[in-house]
Amino acid sequence: MLIGGELVEAIDGAWIESINPADETVIGRVPRGSAADAARAVEAANAAFPAWAAISVAERATAMRAFAARISDLAEEFLRIEVLDTGNTVRPMRHDVKYSVDSLDYYAGLGYELKGETIPASTSGLHLTLREPYGAVVRITPFNHPLMFAVSRTAAALAAGNTVIVKPSETSPLSTALLAEVARETLPPGVFNIVTGLGGEAGDALVRHPGIRRIAFTGSVPTGMAIQRAAAEVSVKRVSLELGGKNPFIAFPDCDPDEIAQAAVRGMNFTWQGQSCGSTSRLLVHESLHDAVVDRVAALVDAIRVGDPMSEDTDMGPINSAGQYRRVMSMIQMAKDDGARLVSGGARPAGSDFTRGYWVRPTVFAGVEPNARIAQQEVFGPVLSVIRWRTVEEAIAIANSTEFGLTAAIWTHDIDRALSTARQVQSGHVWINDVSAHYPAVPFGGYRNSGVGNEESIEELFSYTLTKAINISLRG
Ligand code: NAD
Repeated sequence: MLIGGELVEAIDGAWIESINPADETVIGRVPRGSAADAARAVEAANAAFPAWAAISVAERATAMRAFAARISDLAEEFLRIEVLDTGNTVRPMRHDVKYSVDSLDYYAGLGYELKGETIPASTSGLHLTLREPYGAVVRITPFNHPLMFAVSRTAAALAAGNTVIVKPSETSPLSTALLAEVARETLPPGVFNIVTGLGGEAGDALVRHPGIRRIAFTGSVPTGMAIQRAAAEVSVKRVSLELGGKNPFIAFPDCDPDEIAQAAVRGMNFTWQGQSCGSTSRLLVHESLHDAVVDRVAALVDAIRVGDPMSEDTDMGPINSAGQYRRVMSMIQMAKDDGARLVSGGARPAGSDFTRGYWVRPTVFAGVEPNARIAQQEVFGPVLSVIRWRTVEEAIAIANSTEFGLTAAIWTHDIDRALSTARQVQSGHVWINDVSAHYPAVPFGGYRNSGVGNEESIEELFSYTLTKAINISLRG
């Protein structure tokens, strides 16, 4: 862990082992931080805050760029650790390391936009606002993209003059542990702290701590709700939540079935086993295209090469943890029990390479009823459900029928249809004729149970600031 510029173990000496999901071997260990470790991290982050907030935007940007440059220097090492620890495949994970570096660079520059306003509220005075940092910010990250979330989702907080405490997932903590060494070399002590441990222990203690006024969480809906409750028990805190999704991909009848099938497979993010909040895991296809699309999707999914995530030839690796593996398998069984038609996958891959590890074949169900449990609940795994629709009203009603509202993809060449559908889907991030893409300056956030707040834009920078209004009475 990194606390106050020192690499430390847990006070009580406890550890958590990290497992390689491809073969279930132990590949590393991190301290199992307790409430006492959380408390010392909060103390260190608050102690470092006044000096970090007092330096200029330019000085903070210089420090953040040094942090980014060091991550860049160690890109191959971060990549290797990340792939071993998450099971995500190596080719697309290069993008995660680059995106982390780019985000630091983006927010380092964006710091100059921390501007207030002058407001013509009266004729006898001058009214203006300042944006000020909160102090020590807690950032809790999920298991699927640990480095990217630890870096890109703290960059805005740092640029705004806050200090941070990162708590990574207990099932993929190793890249964040390496980040501890990089942050120690490049940032002032206490500005960037890392506490490893279990969600219900270190995570919960950080969330409840009265020395914290701002919490940013990425993870599941139940944990997000638990964090909102716990955060409110001792003091008032601002909590932003980036949560799950059951995202619709709506294919209109004017599309080419081949193009839809290819995009639908891309939108599932099988390269990280479908473990992506933005995966379009419900493929809503007009009845005129339905059978042709199902056949093509099944053929593409059957051709996905499952195997060693470190190999450049692999398209899909193992599920991240034993718990998540059991969850995915039980949801596949649930879909079968509920009468969905299995058209691809649905089981462990065969062969001696897959006797150990958390392996599942990429899976497609067709003939899924919109209200079936597999169409309503987030799997967070490699399971795509194809749903047939007849009228546009029906497609939009199905799209909006879950508790979630994170992303949606709309495929049509009719611009009126595309934009009117985009207006009607209750999702925070909509792609038209695209899937999956993220851009640093474009806000990302969920509607309904998919979250509170926006990230990846100037909105994220502002979310780490308090607004102070100053009213000056002019006597002259
Ligand atoms: P999770 O909710 O199980 O855990 C996320 C983090 O919260 C972990 O670090 C965990 O240790 C911590 N945690 C658990 N209980 C806690 C508690 N009581 N108090 C404080 N911290 C606690 O989620 P996960 O399984 O790691 O990730 C998968 C989920 O994340 C999916 O639902 C996925 O959709 C979501 N996700 C959302 C986004 C987004 O941007 N919206 C991005 C990635 C993942």
